[in-house]
Amino acid sequence: MALIECPSCSKRVSDKATNCPHCDFKLTGLSGDELEREWHRVMASKRERLVGQSMLALLIAIAAFTYYFIQQPLPETWPAKVSYGLMIVGLIWFVINRVRLVFIKRKRS
Ligand SMILES: [Zn+2]
Repeated sequence: MALIECPSCSKRVSDKATNCPHCDFKLTGLSGDELEREWHRVMASKRERLVGQSMLALLIAIAAFTYYFIQQPLPETWPAKVSYGLMIVGLIWFVINRVRLVFIKRKRS
């Protein structure tokens, strides 16, 4: 059993597999052109998912910030801690998704 590299996620996959077990990329029965199209389709849906996630993350951070700004909860109370935590998590999540997006765009070239 030989291992090949998945054209979509670059992980090692058995050459007997019909679909990549990691990203569900279709591996068999495709010509070069079809493989190219399929690759673009997978990349586009990955990008869409990441953009959606980063928007959601930003929304969470903004909502937490807005709550903190308007309500001004006392420090050390749980609303303050929760809104502060959500702000940080949202921002970190947003940054991670943006970095992954840049990485996906650069991958091919
Ligand atoms: Zn894959």
